[in-house]
Amino acid sequence: MSRKSEQREIILKTVKSTDIHPDADWIYQQVKKEIPDISLGTVYRNLKLLAGKGNIRQLDIDNGPSHFDGRTDLHHHLKCIKCGRIMDIDYSLKSEDIERIGKENDFSVTEYSFVFYGICSRCIK
Ligand SMILES: [Zn+2]
Ligand SMILES: [Zn+2]
Repeated sequence: MSRKSEQREIILKTVKSTDIHPDADWIYQQVKKEIPDISLGTVYRNLKLLAGKGNIRQLDIDNGPSHFDGRTDLHHHLKCIKCGRIMDIDYSLKSEDIERIGKENDFSVTEYSFVFYGICSRCIK
């Protein structure tokens, strides 16, 4: 395996290993343990590339840094407004609702995503 594809493998593995929806900086800190001389720029470029290929998902919620998700199937998110934690939820619209939204707006829906904001169980205590 070339160095480049090895780097990409490790970055992919790192994103897939967690459900905390980390940002590039967190991933960089983890990957550095295995590849001490890797740069944040390289990590970021690979994350973009992996997201572009559909191996991972890039989440741009709010104006903060992008978060990365190892889960690529259709699912949505809860975001805690206190600690910023992002959690997965399984929820999908009925196909007739998607069709209706498309029809009413003369729009062809190709995908959709929801973020529910609130306060997580850790912060509510
Ligand atoms: Zn919280
Ligand atoms: Zn997710």
